[in-house]
Amino acid sequence: MHVAKPSGFKPIGGGYPALVLNADFRPLSYYPLSVWPWEEVVKAVFLDRVDVIATYDHTVRSPSFEMRLPSVVSLKSYVPQDRSPAFTRFNLFLRDAFTCQYCGARDDLTFDHVIPRSRGGRTTWENILTACAPCNLSKGGRTPAEAHMIPLRQPERPSLHDLLARGRKFPPNHLHASWLDYLYWDIELEA
Ligand SMILES: [Zn+2]
Repeated sequence: MHVAKPSGFKPIGGGYPALVLNADFRPLSYYPLSVWPWEEVVKAVFLDRVDVIATYDHTVRSPSFEMRLPSVVSLKSYVPQDRSPAFTRFNLFLRDAFTCQYCGARDDLTFDHVIPRSRGGRTTWENILTACAPCNLSKGGRTPAEAHMIPLRQPERPSLHDLLARGRKFPPNHLHASWLDYLYWDIELEA
């Protein structure tokens, strides 16, 4: 777009984040879902870094310009997705499908060192798994063999592909209607 950079934009009603798609029209990331605040989106439009795919019904105005706020944008340049996933609390829960790896519970989740720290166990993808608080407490400082608590799956480092696939099954709670076309196709195909 060849318009002077806007100034003095005022959001109408607040909010209005945009879903950000990679150049291949898949979300840049599922977890966290790639969403930008509207200010960043407007800037990216003016810097010609994104295409606007869908918009909200809301408009921002400056004295020289007006624009419907984008609800979905796609990057003009493809961002390669070959990074390995960050070792974060959320990604660990996601790898384990938000399920206690000892009893299958889905509430009151925390983390367990398979080999306890007191026995030299490290805080790594391969030694941490999702456990509910009761299982975590009853296992205590014991190994799985000692506690007779064998994990459903041996913990391992997930690939980004694994996490993306899991992420599609645990969609975030707050989604604008215009985002759905870009998020759920593969779930529908699997159903
Ligand atoms: Zn449990």
